[in-house]
Amino acid sequence: MLKAQRKAYVPFRHAPFLLRPNAVSPSSPLDLIKLLKLSADTKNLKVGKTIHSHLIVTSRATENSIIEVNSLINFYAKVNQVSIAHNLFDRMPERNVVSWSALMTGYLLNGFSLKVIRLLKDMISEGNVSPNEYILAIAISSCCDRGRVEEGRQCHGLLLKTGFSFHNYVRNALVSMYSKCSIVQDAMGVWNEVPVNDIVAYNSILSSLVENGYLREGLEVLRSMVSESVKWDKVTFVNAFSLCASLKDLRLGLHVHGKMLTSDVECDAYVSSAIINMYGKCGKSLMARGVFDGLQSRNVVLWTAVMASCFQNGCFEEALNLFSKMEQENVKSNEFTYAVLLNACAGLSARRNGSLLHGHSEKSGFKHHVMVGNALINMYAKSGDIEAAKKVFSDMMHRDIITWNAMICGFSHHGLGKKALLVFQDMLAAEEHPNYVTFTGVLSACGHLGLVQEGFYYLHHLMKQFGVQPGLEHYTCIVSLLSKTGQLNEARNFMRTAPVKWDVVAWRTLLNACHVHQNYGLGRWVAEFVLEMDPNDVGTYTLLSNIYAKEKRWDGVVKVRKLMRDKKIKKEPGVSWIEIGNVTHIFTSEDNKHPDYGQTYQKVKELLAMIKPLGYTPDIGAVLHDVEDEQKEYYLSYHSEKLAIAYGLLKLPSEASILVIKNLRICDDCHSAVRLISKVTNRVIVVRDANRFHHFRDGRCSCLDYW
Ligand SMILES: [Zn+2]
Ligand SMILES: [Zn+2]
Repeated sequence: MLKAQRKAYVPFRHAPFLLRPNAVSPSSPLDLIKLLKLSADTKNLKVGKTIHSHLIVTSRATENSIIEVNSLINFYAKVNQVSIAHNLFDRMPERNVVSWSALMTGYLLNGFSLKVIRLLKDMISEGNVSPNEYILAIAISSCCDRGRVEEGRQCHGLLLKTGFSFHNYVRNALVSMYSKCSIVQDAMGVWNEVPVNDIVAYNSILSSLVENGYLREGLEVLRSMVSESVKWDKVTFVNAFSLCASLKDLRLGLHVHGKMLTSDVECDAYVSSAIINMYGKCGKSLMARGVFDGLQSRNVVLWTAVMASCFQNGCFEEALNLFSKMEQENVKSNEFTYAVLLNACAGLSARRNGSLLHGHSEKSGFKHHVMVGNALINMYAKSGDIEAAKKVFSDMMHRDIITWNAMICGFSHHGLGKKALLVFQDMLAAEEHPNYVTFTGVLSACGHLGLVQEGFYYLHHLMKQFGVQPGLEHYTCIVSLLSKTGQLNEARNFMRTAPVKWDVVAWRTLLNACHVHQNYGLGRWVAEFVLEMDPNDVGTYTLLSNIYAKEKRWDGVVKVRKLMRDKKIKKEPGVSWIEIGNVTHIFTSEDNKHPDYGQTYQKVKELLAMIKPLGYTPDIGAVLHDVEDEQKEYYLSYHSEKLAIAYGLLKLPSEASILVIKNLRICDDCHSAVRLISKVTNRVIVVRDANRFHHFRDGRCSCLDYW
């Protein structure tokens, strides 16, 4: 500090004319003030300090020179030396409104918004000088977060009471304060009261509305810009593109893009990434790619935007391919890039790619970034390695709501309800506010554990306490919870009375329960109902056919098959895959395309022979009725997941756990076979089917045979 000050006292190297006695008198007060302002605007600490010392030497900056001290306060505030500014302010025997506003602006610019309000209070209680509209605008700008909104309102009230005219900057400060505090009605109220609008005001309200999800109001503002022929600038276009993206309104997006091309706004990286994002969110990843490919230079923001557009449209591999291209062009990733890529790996359940990226992100110094940590938890959880997800979670130095939700939902998805609820307890202890997603995870954990009372307690009381409005997902969790505990009629009644519009997923949950709990009467009724809602739902036809088969009502089976034939609905073939080394091996039922199929079939046969003494009998109820029993057994034996597991047992080291992913719901027969295979081979086998993860260990499954 001392050193810096000494350095600042070197003669006027940057303003040599100050020393020339014969030049146009440089030390006239007005010149010095102008020069000080220039130093403030260019943030030139050296020159400013030199002028300060000059003023001390010539004794100008004393009690009498209020204008000069104000200029000094303004200077120090703008060069981030606000404590020096405050010192000067404290020593002033007399202050005017400029002195106050200079210091308050300094605190606002340096992020000390609490100080601004404190100064306003001092000013009012001292009573020598009254705040003007400029002072109030500064104070309002310092109230831009939810905790301070009351103080902001008081400033608004003061403004109305004092009858100051509403200058643009006051109105903009109010609009921005209310929208940043998410009180959009008040923001729009101020907006509508003061109709004179400039582009800054338009941009300010538009961005606040879009950021806070008030899309309808955003559209209204955009419309009034068009009807009042306001000329759009770069910021307007970026806001307009993100509005289209949030609305997923491609037509409007194309319109805005066209408008931009005919305007004189430069299409720089900032605008381009907004366009790419818009096309991606509107489901047009090829158009996003087209914009990206047409760019001359591409920075990490643009690369990440185009990868995100692939990810959003389910082209996960494409996103990963783009990453290697980006590396070839020597563009360095940032935390957003890693987050997008890890989520793409999660979409592919590509644990190997994911852990490579994990290492990559650690090497490039993004290890402790919350966004990267969250994406890692999601990736490991979705690709079957919940232990690795837990490790990332435990190692994180900072967590946000997404971190907690990822861990709770991860455990739930793996059927580890107890662990999910423990994390939820920790979350409450850490005073993190649970939100909509949290309760989806928590209720689904209750479902796995069959905790009916707790489930209803969370739905009716805890959610209310935290201000979360229950939605379809939560109600569906309750249906699943009641179904799991066998209370099918209660589930049916709950569906009749709950204040929500049910979708196919909820009804299928009940249908599945009827199948598991062998309540075939209700099951048939629900199935007919689901098929009315969605006549092409393959899963429902399969379940209905299975129900008829279990009742040995072959006429029903025939009826379902005829229906499917008439509607040209084909049963999706079962496909399972397993990653070994860096190769993904794909198996379909009765697969003989795999190069090692002979060996694999042999292994399945061996495994089935090993588990038969433990009580395994093929569950042939659900297979075709018009073949001999022996044939039915054959069909069951070579379901794709059995083949993939056998292959894993052949090729993976004896201590490695086996992860198999299947496109459909795992069938009853495979489920009981895999349970016993995990016992006889002493292996952990993880199967992710269309609904959830099954962790098979020592003859048991984490789903407790309910899925
Ligand atoms: Zn099966
Ligand atoms: Zn299971």
